[in-house]
Amino acid sequence: MKLSQIIMLGGIFIISNQKFITDILNINYDQIESIDSIKNSDHSLNFFVKLKPVSNLRCPYCDSCHIVGNGFTKRKLIHSTLVNRKCIIFYKRRRYLCKDCSSSFSEKNPFINTGESVTLETKINVLKDLKFVANTYSAVAARYNISVTKVIQIFDKHVDIKRKPLPEVLSIDEHFFPQSNYDSLYMCIFMDFITGEIVDVLPDRKKAYIANYLSAIRAQTLNKYTNKSELHNVKYISIDLYDNYRDIAHIYFPKAIVCADPFHVLKHLTEGFNQVRL
Ligand SMILES: [Zn+2]
Repeated sequence: MKLSQIIMLGGIFIISNQKFITDILNINYDQIESIDSIKNSDHSLNFFVKLKPVSNLRCPYCDSCHIVGNGFTKRKLIHSTLVNRKCIIFYKRRRYLCKDCSSSFSEKNPFINTGESVTLETKINVLKDLKFVANTYSAVAARYNISVTKVIQIFDKHVDIKRKPLPEVLSIDEHFFPQSNYDSLYMCIFMDFITGEIVDVLPDRKKAYIANYLSAIRAQTLNKYTNKSELHNVKYISIDLYDNYRDIAHIYFPKAIVCADPFHVLKHLTEGFNQVRL
């Protein structure tokens, strides 16, 4: 039956196309013991899935083959693989009990790792979309029917962008970012002043956070023979007129020349002139 041939039943639609369903769920039909699907009046889709028990199962803790069924756990999973259409899997996940070591465990499945509520397919889609700078967290969250916080969690967990080496001329600045998970309204940006390349983005601009960050770099890169670390590469530091940055610069880069960022100097001068005029 084609997707267009949907049977309407009491205000809801029931889809009965095996290929369509297995494609969406990314599973083989052989794995399924039972599956029902409902298309709601708002076009969202619900799937009710139970997988077949696995034969020759072994205990992951003691490798025993004396395994018995131990009921099910019901999981509600967000599975956003269709554009602009909400899709939820109600997954009845099998539990097993080992008769030798009395450990219980859940069946393996293609949807989630234990304790998660967003399917692997959804995460892959989220990460693919976030490759494009124009896709904001909130746009991706709306597209895949998950919260902005969840999108940020997925990104933070799976994407580890290595920082670049500290440059000779380091610029430290901030960016207003109230959505941060940290107790800070501002992110702190380290940039190569000459090339304009971003060295690293810190989620917090507070002194303690930056101090910990730089202490870690110093500890990781310290050469015990020369007693020099990567911090010694920095010869000049450009900052705005924020006291914390000046203190940090003097503590961690004592030999570097600290300069006020010309943009911020002009901004302060202009504000000063305006006040005098008033
Ligand atoms: Zn066992």
